Amino acid sequence: LVIPDFPSFMADITEIYESLLPDRRGQVADYIPQLKRVAPDQFAIAICTVDGQRFTIGDFGQSFCVQSVCKPINYCLTLEGHGAEVVHRHVGREPSGLGFNELSVNGNGLPHNPMINSGAIMSCSLIEASLDMADRFDYVADTWRRLSGGSPVGFNNAVYLSERQTADRNFALGYFMREHGAFPAGTNLIETLEFYFQCCSVELDAGALASVASTLANGGVVPLSGDRVFSTGTVQKCLSLMSSCGMYDYSGEFAFTIGLPAKSGVSGALMLVVPQVMGIAIWSPRLDALGNSVRGIEFCKQLVAKYNFHVYDSL
Ligand code: GLU
Repeated sequence: LVIPDFPSFMADITEIYESLLPDRRGQVADYIPQLKRVAPDQFAIAICTVDGQRFTIGDFGQSFCVQSVCKPINYCLTLEGHGAEVVHRHVGREPSGLGFNELSVNGNGLPHNPMINSGAIMSCSLIEASLDMADRFDYVADTWRRLSGGSPVGFNNAVYLSERQTADRNFALGYFMREHGAFPAGTNLIETLEFYFQCCSVELDAGALASVASTLANGGVVPLSGDRVFSTGTVQKCLSLMSSCGMYDYSGEFAFTIGLPAKSGVSGALMLVVPQVMGIAIWSPRLDALGNSVRGIEFCKQLVAKYNFHVYDSL
């Protein structure tokens, strides 16, 4: 067993969970009403180890939309579909040092990396582009279903419609990248943007997201089902970019203090990967000034204070 004494590990996680419950700092995202209305003090933690031991605590039955947590999964799908050489003709792999939706491209006229909006829109242009919209979405939803080990995966249509309606910046990013010739030939920009909003509106619960994270921890094989969804090379590349770019403008700090690949989203979701050990999902909607879940970040800090999971703890 990768965690030999799971009961005492669960007790430690429970202790961290309880210590964070009174923490009411931060605000829920308010750029769309569907996120603004979410009960702010909900909190769930879910864990799935690479050998399939599981633990959940808090509001783990509540679904939330993945938002930016779709970015690493979509990036994996582009790698599976085209290989890294082709994908990176369209997107860089360097932290931008700028906000997640900054109107900016790199020196080659490409989005800086796949973990920010521009790069995630680019990923969407690269996923099964020859199929029609319905089949492209089915392909993504089916991938989430497989990654979650068979848990139900939903779609929040109200979030999708709201995202689409308030998407001036994402449209601007799309046109800006098109002006720079960044997209693959034949890209339908409007469809690509709508596809991106749909991907952000995929819904699941913390237990399902922990399975997704554990699949990344396990090199692309879902621990709960044995299903190989991504190749090891794909996951390696994705984890590298999550480590450098996954946590908005806190990515460098996070790499320094936590030392683990992670991706957060404006819904308050945080997917944390302990390579070869486990995947952890934390969901708590109150966000800090940089857009990361307050309790999510605090959980990560306490976790690595207690356990030697920081990538350089083993030195
Ligand atoms: N749908 C959001 C946007 O594109 C996602 C933001 C996020 O989770 O960071 O603006």
